[in-house]
Amino acid sequence: MTDTKLSFAKFADKYKLLMSQENEHVKCLIIGSGPAGYTAAIYASRADLKPVMYTGLLAGGQLTQTTEVENYPGYPNGIMGPEMMEDFRKQAERLGTDIRYGYVSSVDFSSLPHKVVVDDIKTILADTVIISTGASAKWLGLDSEQKYSGFGVSACAVCDGFFFKGQDVAIVGAGDTAAEEATYLAKLCRKVYMIVRRDEFRASKAMVSRVLNTANIEILYDSETKEIVGDGQSVTGVTVINNKTNETKTLDVTGFFVAIGHKPNTDIFRGWIHMDETGYIKTTPGSTTTNIEGVFCCGDAQDHIYRQAVTAAGTGCMAAIDAERYLAAKEHIVTA
Ligand code: NDP
Repeated sequence: MTDTKLSFAKFADKYKLLMSQENEHVKCLIIGSGPAGYTAAIYASRADLKPVMYTGLLAGGQLTQTTEVENYPGYPNGIMGPEMMEDFRKQAERLGTDIRYGYVSSVDFSSLPHKVVVDDIKTILADTVIISTGASAKWLGLDSEQKYSGFGVSACAVCDGFFFKGQDVAIVGAGDTAAEEATYLAKLCRKVYMIVRRDEFRASKAMVSRVLNTANIEILYDSETKEIVGDGQSVTGVTVINNKTNETKTLDVTGFFVAIGHKPNTDIFRGWIHMDETGYIKTTPGSTTTNIEGVFCCGDAQDHIYRQAVTAAGTGCMAAIDAERYLAAKEHIVTA
């Protein structure tokens, strides 16, 4: 067979396989594979909902891009982020979750069962959908930032601040997150440089006042990060430029924290699910229910405040219990 015929045959096989699975009907579909999604999967499996999970492009979520995790209960000696997510995956799989690599490209929540399209080709009909697509930290976009990510560069002070105890660090951003994280870091670190691109903060007055009243925080106004400097292994400094005077200087720091906001990965649900102006999905307080019947949301896709693996896992558990109770109530109505 020629190469063209061979690849056409392969394509035809894949197409037939996909078509044969088209309109597969599932009880519980989980979108996203971070701590929230896997915890939902563990609980849904044990409740016999036979969950199917689509992992998304970054299987395992944000934690697969971090190094050591020391604040997740149950790991007395800490654990590497990717290894922890592998443990989550194995546990969900062992209990029966059908984990698939695929990206949900669109949804149609206009009627029951819900329609979810994967990789633009395959349609799944789902009685319940658990959204656990997480959020992504915004980055400055410097090559050196990516190079040292996990090796001195972090987007989470609460997760990684401890590794810089007694050292000098810098944080970029001027919103509430940056202000909160700067004061958090100031308790652990010797000195915290705060790099603010304008001549004022965006953060609330109360948060700014906390920053201004913390002796070991030095604010660099009108300043932008030019480069993160390192020795090839880890961060050794940060070069900043004053955008009014053009003066450049290098701060001797071993940690660099980026706190310029997060973006929830919820674009595909826009128009269906109620969200705030940033895209965080709105859930009923104290539950994971959304404005759409049978659709639940957990983890960072609905949480702009805590954003921790353990809080995401907690809401993942809630989502599976909410889905189970919703299905049980429906079954009761149908059979009654
Ligand atoms: P925000 O969008 O509020 O702030 C982002 C900050 O990062 C801004 O100061 C912005 O600067 C700066 N920034 C953006 N891009 C760059 C860049 N390329 N270089 C340098 N600086 C940059 O995000 P937050 O995460 O701080 O907050 C998100 C939401 O969560 C807000 O509504 C906030 O109030 C809320 N929140 C509330 C908390 C609380 O109540 N305890 C705690 C944390 C967050 P600029 O100002 O110049 O645009």
